[in-house]
Amino acid sequence: KIRVRYAPSPTGHLHIGNARTALFNYLFARHNNGTFVIRIEDTDLKRNIADGEKSQLDNLTWLGMDWDEGPDKPGEYGPYRQSERLAIYKPLVQELLDKGLAYESFMTEEELTKQREEQKARGEAPRYVYEYEGMNAEEIAAKQAQARAAGLEPVVRIRVPQNKTYEFDDIVKGHISFESNTIGGDFVIQKRDGMPTYNFAVVVDDHLMKITHVLRGDDHIANTPKQLVVYEAFGWEPPVFGHMTLIINTETGKKLSKRDESVLQFIEQYRSLGYLPDAMFNFITLLGWSPVGEKEIFNRKELIGMFDPKRLSRSPASFDAKKLEWINNQYVKNAREDLIADSSLKQLIKAGRIPADPDAKTIEWARKLTNLFKQQMSFTGQIIKLSEIFFDDPATLDEAALKELADESAPVVLNAFAQKIKELPLFDATEIQNAIYAIQHETGVRGRKLYMPIRIATTRETHGPELAASVELLGRTKALMHLQKTLA
Ligand code: GLU
Repeated sequence: KIRVRYAPSPTGHLHIGNARTALFNYLFARHNNGTFVIRIEDTDLKRNIADGEKSQLDNLTWLGMDWDEGPDKPGEYGPYRQSERLAIYKPLVQELLDKGLAYESFMTEEELTKQREEQKARGEAPRYVYEYEGMNAEEIAAKQAQARAAGLEPVVRIRVPQNKTYEFDDIVKGHISFESNTIGGDFVIQKRDGMPTYNFAVVVDDHLMKITHVLRGDDHIANTPKQLVVYEAFGWEPPVFGHMTLIINTETGKKLSKRDESVLQFIEQYRSLGYLPDAMFNFITLLGWSPVGEKEIFNRKELIGMFDPKRLSRSPASFDAKKLEWINNQYVKNAREDLIADSSLKQLIKAGRIPADPDAKTIEWARKLTNLFKQQMSFTGQIIKLSEIFFDDPATLDEAALKELADESAPVVLNAFAQKIKELPLFDATEIQNAIYAIQHETGVRGRKLYMPIRIATTRETHGPELAASVELLGRTKALMHLQKTLA
């Protein structure tokens, strides 16, 4: 039975790249009726942030993922936080020490740095050089006792076999082999503070949690041989690995890095701007994975049904901001009216456009406002910019707009329109449209010469959504005020 995991470190919020890792594991598990596990890798105490775990889990839930085992879902293989598993790692480290497969190393940080710098100066790759070279067991014990007496704390290093080739078949990258001599020497499995290192804990946990497939970002590929060394030391069977390619920002052609400010990278940011989770789920799935065929819009169920890790791309995934907007627009356009209305109501409240506790009339008004712009929105936060004219003082007209108003028929139309809407018993889109028809009838002005001046005078723009509906939402007072300002 397939068991996969997403193993976030709570050192930050859910990033788009991590969300992708989580998503592919989720889809793989659900497609195969497998188990999806969340494990929190929180042993780097200094780097953990206060709400890191909660934020990771909340945002996974928002995206529509659920899991079968995790810190909030106890299962057979818990606990699911590494910080709570220290009692599991300790004896396993001891086991390797007892077997002579690991040893205590007292080299200080300063000595290690010095070693690395000398290697660099010689043009060599940095590596840890065995500090007990040529010593027998007694001499080693004496040296260690001396270091301990001087108050030094040891790290524990695992012995990396020399001149050995480590190989594995990666689901994404194919056959991979590493020479053990390129690993950088015996590496640390337990830090001075007694915490396991990532490369040790991840192996112990993946083994004890019976993980069958490890799908993760290819920034971890250089760790895999180290992990194979640990599997080998214990005599455990490694899982199947799949390393997903990095993500390139289409705009810049560069690797998507957290410092790249040209795109939003945290799920939280999309969420607070009013992006739809289903759309984000769809978009993220296409980052480095593609189904057969050209279609790109799929719901969750379809994606679970289709997901095949063999179709994970070998070439870098491209993060295309335009595609993100396009996919999101598809979802907003086709979403249930009340869903979008609710979401943009929240945005309007957040922006201080309407009161936090709106009455029924305001809610209805906001719903109509949203419908006016629904076709063109990719996320509901866009309502704020799109609807400025309904809230702010009318902007000064640009040249193009002034040109449209230059014709002698314009003031005739505008005066007539002002007169008519002043008198309308019911101020709604149908009545407003009828008023426009009446002006056409009475003045003989039609088409662009009729509509453009009214649009410009009321909305201050030459383009925009449906005119009569816009004037209705503007309201009689504002519409008249805008008309007066234009005529003055
Ligand atoms: N905690 C690691 C990370 O956040 C997980 C790596 C792995 O999946 O093995 O990158």
